[in-house]
Amino acid sequence: MIVEAVADSKKVVVFALGGTIASTPSSASASGITPALGVSALLASLPPFDASIAVEGVDFRKMPSGDLTFDDLVSLGDALNAAFDRGAHGAVVIQGTDTLEETAFALDLLVAHRGTVAVTGAMRSSNEAGHDGPSNVLSAVRVAAAETSWQPGTVVVFNDEIHAARYVHKGHATSPATFVSPSAGPLGWAIEGRVRWTSRVSPLVGVRVPATSRPGPVALVRCALGDDARLIEQLASLGYVGVVVEAFGAGHVPARIVDALEALNHEVPVVITTRTGAGETLRHTYGFPGAEIDLQSRGLTFAGVLDGLKARVALTVVLAAYPDRARAMDAFGAIVASVTE
Ligand code: ASP
Repeated sequence: MIVEAVADSKKVVVFALGGTIASTPSSASASGITPALGVSALLASLPPFDASIAVEGVDFRKMPSGDLTFDDLVSLGDALNAAFDRGAHGAVVIQGTDTLEETAFALDLLVAHRGTVAVTGAMRSSNEAGHDGPSNVLSAVRVAAAETSWQPGTVVVFNDEIHAARYVHKGHATSPATFVSPSAGPLGWAIEGRVRWTSRVSPLVGVRVPATSRPGPVALVRCALGDDARLIEQLASLGYVGVVVEAFGAGHVPARIVDALEALNHEVPVVITTRTGAGETLRHTYGFPGAEIDLQSRGLTFAGVLDGLKARVALTVVLAAYPDRARAMDAFGAIVASVTE
């Protein structure tokens, strides 16, 4: 469906997936809001805007974002690549905010960088005062249509700010200013129809997941005070194909779980991240058992600046792309290097 088309305009393809932004009160008998609006309704809520932007809408999914799967994201990546093949200048993905930081990073890995992909949503639905959907979508369309001398890849556009997919985090349960980038700050902002970039990120190493491959389950485990190894010891037998551990501080775990982690890593790849929510894992500072030097010497992989959710996305995608573990982990290392550069 073409919502607006002007000669010589820049085409932005908008994919709608559901979420709060698309939610309305369900019925008189049921309570609460549920995703109901399609892309036409979301685009119809925008005020008139730049005549030079032609928007094409696609109804992709209509669900709470917690119900999305990696299969959905691989299909969405393929659809975005196809849209760029057909000449799109940029693209917008509208979805629920709950898993938006994961979707954005997955798309940054899966979509060839030929134009900006701006992911957005809303914290307040259309039946609430201060509905933030239309302003977020309009800013996202403008960011996707903006001319840049570099490739921003996939970004999150929310509450006037632009965040890099690799750094962004949903940091508040209800605030419209929920998206933050604790390690790096936003990349810029969009106001009064203008898009301002205040910093850049280096291009990510991309990954292509064959249509025939089904991403396997990767566990995400957080270290906590007093932990023992009983959960770690079960993970391989539960069928996980990889494990991400959110470790203490700069990449430390209790000494009492190190042997179990090493044994698990012989079964499936184990990646260490920091549970702190910002910064990167260390490589050669701490020498106690369970610290980064010990864990690296036992063959565990470190995720650098990727937080647990992002590391899990990257590990899921590389394991789906490459059946050979060594090749998959080389690809994971290349992603970490390209993010950390
Ligand atoms: N609360 C969520 C949202 O902001 C619901 C979802 O993620 O689908 O959209």
